[in-house]
Amino acid sequence: MKVLMLGNEAVARGLFEAGASVVSSYPGTPSTEMTEFVSQYDEIYSEWAPNEKVAMEVAFGASFGGKRSFCAMKHVGLNVAADPLFTISYTGVNAGMVIGVADDPGMHSSQNEQDSRHYARAAKLPMLEPSNSDECLEMTKAAFELSERFDTPVLLRLCTRVSHSQSVVETGPRTEKPAVPYQKNGAKYIMMPGNAKRRHPVVEQRLLSLAAFAETSDLNRVEKGGRKLGIITSGTAYQYVKEVFGDTVSILKLGLVWPLPTKLICDFAASVDRLFVVEELDSFIEAHCRALGLTVSGKDIFPVVGEFSQNLIREKLGIPATPGRTLDADIPMRPPVMCAGCPHRGLFYALVRNKAAVIGDIGCYTLGAMPPLAAMDSTICMGASISGLHGFNKALGEAGEKRAVAVIGDSTFMHSGVTGLIDIAYNGSNSTVIILDNSITGMTGHQQNPTTGFNIKGDPAGKIDLEALCRAVGIRRVRVVDPYDLQQCIDAVKEELEAPEPSVIISRRPCALLKSVKPKPPLKVDPDKCKSCQSCMNIGCPAISFNAGKATVDATLCVGCGVCTQLCAFGAFETTEEATK
Ligand code: SF4
Ligand code: SF4
Repeated sequence: MKVLMLGNEAVARGLFEAGASVVSSYPGTPSTEMTEFVSQYDEIYSEWAPNEKVAMEVAFGASFGGKRSFCAMKHVGLNVAADPLFTISYTGVNAGMVIGVADDPGMHSSQNEQDSRHYARAAKLPMLEPSNSDECLEMTKAAFELSERFDTPVLLRLCTRVSHSQSVVETGPRTEKPAVPYQKNGAKYIMMPGNAKRRHPVVEQRLLSLAAFAETSDLNRVEKGGRKLGIITSGTAYQYVKEVFGDTVSILKLGLVWPLPTKLICDFAASVDRLFVVEELDSFIEAHCRALGLTVSGKDIFPVVGEFSQNLIREKLGIPATPGRTLDADIPMRPPVMCAGCPHRGLFYALVRNKAAVIGDIGCYTLGAMPPLAAMDSTICMGASISGLHGFNKALGEAGEKRAVAVIGDSTFMHSGVTGLIDIAYNGSNSTVIILDNSITGMTGHQQNPTTGFNIKGDPAGKIDLEALCRAVGIRRVRVVDPYDLQQCIDAVKEELEAPEPSVIISRRPCALLKSVKPKPPLKVDPDKCKSCQSCMNIGCPAISFNAGKATVDATLCVGCGVCTQLCAFGAFETTEEATK
């Protein structure tokens, strides 16, 4: 049956059809929907793991136990999972194991722009890269075949434009895979040095076998279009090349992007007069071509930064650009901003009032860095806020301890924040950690996590008691505040910064966008009471703006949280019910 699917959805369909049994992932844009769609197939056990390392280890355990398995993550998540990645390359698999990784060229929602192909080379693992949804489905199935044939985990690389674009796929039935019998084999699966030394040559030989396979595999194909110009490309860049050139140039389209087919590349290069490599991000294929002694153009004209487009390829190759369609309306600027009613806003306001230095983390609350709050001093990666604060305070001593805090979300705390808190308790810095508990994983689109009490299917699940956990690791001062109560938050931050021991403040309010959170009637400004002081603008709520010298509330955005009323000394905010009295 032909169906229109997102790339991520097609990967999920591929997992279903391939007979995969276990999927464990951590959400991260643009990879999240792979697992969300998998959760709709009852034939596959699926879960959100607390982080990518755990997810990969769960998937490995399932493969080890004899069932086809999968884990998904974004590119920076692969960094977290790099530890098991490099060693399961040595152990190989029992049943097939595939690792989906989604890169984000252009950094639409990421803190860096890394190119995951380097992991395939470094870990000596095969990597497939689909260019559209149909290939997402087919290559997911092919990845399992490769995994079992070559006894290796297989990386499946997507990127934002493939993950989040729709194209037609041909779906088929599920092929149930009987469990591969589990057999104890310590020499293969116990990676202590003696065994690992014997596995390394196996890995090298596997890579040679895969490289030989790459020469003839239909995962790589030549599309002949004359000898004047030849382009080697893969993934999204292939689609851009096709849209610019159609069938007028020769293309070597690589679906297996590691190991690369040396002879195929050389033969293709010999068949054309000029050779280009068109690839997003790093010089990966091109560097390989140059190492083969080929004369090739690529990063001398194409950028290593940001996303490509059809017009960028035209521009770099001296072809007139095709004008795109533009709207004839002025679209208002939409800077990244926390939602109206976001529970994080009040807490950030309290931090600003306390002139706190804020070591931040990854999540919606990273938007606290934006003006007018501008309440963030650093953001590095998942979990780095708490350990970063500990280091900051060790460097500055009391001067840091009396001034700096870490802010981290509930999901991120579960992901990799708790180890930082253990470090604080164990190695004794007088640090103040604030857990912004909004009862969901907010930024990636409302995934459950170990603090929410529900699993990926929305069924009741084990629920971490954050207060008890913080006390269990050795923090005695643990308190809960309501971020809608500004004075309570201001006082709590002040007191914990002054306290002579480490402390945790849990700022607890569900995300304003959760279905279970019912908005209150919107507020309204009485223009006669408004003195135009602009105090309410300091909170940065997108529902409040200034018109004709007076504050006004956008009733379509306001959820009636009442935080702004606490900023107005003139009582100008009132509920719409009060206003109609
Ligand atoms: S999604 Fe929820 S947590 Fe994230 S900014 Fe919006 S209200 Fe805040
Ligand atoms: S804080 Fe009150 S008086 Fe000041 S601008 Fe806002 S609504 Fe008007």
